[in-house]
Amino acid sequence: MSIQVYVNGQYFPKEEAKISVFDHGFLYGDGVFEGIRAYGGKVFRLNEHIDRLYNGARGIMIDIPLKKEEMAEVVLETLRRNELKDAYIRLVISRGAGDLGLDPRKCKTPTIICITDKIVLYPEELYNKGMEIITAATRRNRPEGVNPQMKSLNYLNNIMAKLEANLAGAPEAMLLNNEDYVAECTGDNIFIVKDGVLITPPPYVGILVGITRNAIMELAEKIGIKVEEKVFTRYEVFTADECFLSGTAAEAVPVVKVDGRQIADGKPGPITNKILKEFKELIKTEGTEIYS
Ligand code: PMP
Repeated sequence: MSIQVYVNGQYFPKEEAKISVFDHGFLYGDGVFEGIRAYGGKVFRLNEHIDRLYNGARGIMIDIPLKKEEMAEVVLETLRRNELKDAYIRLVISRGAGDLGLDPRKCKTPTIICITDKIVLYPEELYNKGMEIITAATRRNRPEGVNPQMKSLNYLNNIMAKLEANLAGAPEAMLLNNEDYVAECTGDNIFIVKDGVLITPPPYVGILVGITRNAIMELAEKIGIKVEEKVFTRYEVFTADECFLSGTAAEAVPVVKVDGRQIADGKPGPITNKILKEFKELIKTEGTEIYS
């Protein structure tokens, strides 16, 4: 059976799920999106994802014509129609169809899409051995422009950094901001561990404030690990005791090399492994039931 995709209030088999070529999401990247996960019949932090989506839409003055509870129900119903328990969920809101000019006033109704599918995981090896990343020459966009706190449909900055990672044969690239501070990776937040303290860049550096990042900070504190939101440079990554990335798709994935330099002993660290283990427990206990 083909997967069923929600488009503006209706469900279509994926081959027939279509939007207008005049949609400003397509023509201009004018919109916002979310990547969410369901584990064992429960959606992880659904309300937090929906809040971030609505905040992003507010940031670009898109008035989403559904209440947050209705949007949550769209996600749950799309999962039910596809009989999914473990899934990756993509919500997309665009300004909608307009004309070829960029004036948003020409777009009368936002486009709303919900796609749910089986999740494609990183290979297990990356979690056991850790990954090697590079620093991209592309800088994270400044908060005064397309603020990285918005999960906007304009991901070109991240894609440019991903191209650099691909060229270097690395799975991920770390982006710095314009002041040379480490911001995040193309699709993940970054953490380092130094002298037992878990450190991650604060939002004003220019990051997407990850839902996974927040969950990890909470659970680290709960298990007695000190957490600091603090700016740091590449040097602090090179000299860290541990490093890992966090994101909805990746969960927490260890980083053992940056720009060819080994971090500590080149193996995933104990705090990283503990956090990944705790996170795996958390997702079992928490979440919005799909089939209640
Ligand atoms: N940073 C960027 C640029 C992202 O696209 C993402 C999501 N893929 C993240 C961080 C992690 O956010 P979350 O934990 O909410 O998935």
